[in-house]
Amino acid sequence: MGSKISEYLSESIYIRDKARRELWRVQWIYDPKTKLLYVFAPSSKKDKYYEIIIHRTGQVEKLCECPASRQGKKCWHMHAAAVIYNKVNEHTYTEPVYGKGDRERFTGEDAYRALYELEKQTDNYIDLSRVSPTLKTLLDFVEGFL
Ligand SMILES: [Zn+2]
Repeated sequence: MGSKISEYLSESIYIRDKARRELWRVQWIYDPKTKLLYVFAPSSKKDKYYEIIIHRTGQVEKLCECPASRQGKKCWHMHAAAVIYNKVNEHTYTEPVYGKGDRERFTGEDAYRALYELEKQTDNYIDLSRVSPTLKTLLDFVEGFL
């Protein structure tokens, strides 16, 4: 059994502060078909993002792979992901939604396009092979139009 995202909310003032300051740089996409939320939190290295995957139920499907998280410590990326998860969970989405920070930016096809742009920017740092087949298929579809 994996853990719940709520367990990754940090009490540390440093982590909470860092997450608050960096939240606007965190990109995410929610796919209502698979009920998976993909969060891409920036690393200190330019153009590198850590991918965190959370199920609608709050179950963490993929943990942040930053050095702190790999040592079993709480990191600001997971804290930010928990904040975004709580926000996304307030809504019932019927189509994919893409957002930055705590704001929803695009829905439907535009959401896939935004994700595609993110993939291009990050130069393979984001492994989209893990993104659900539905999402991937639609992404290829969108790619055909660009
Ligand atoms: Zn992390």
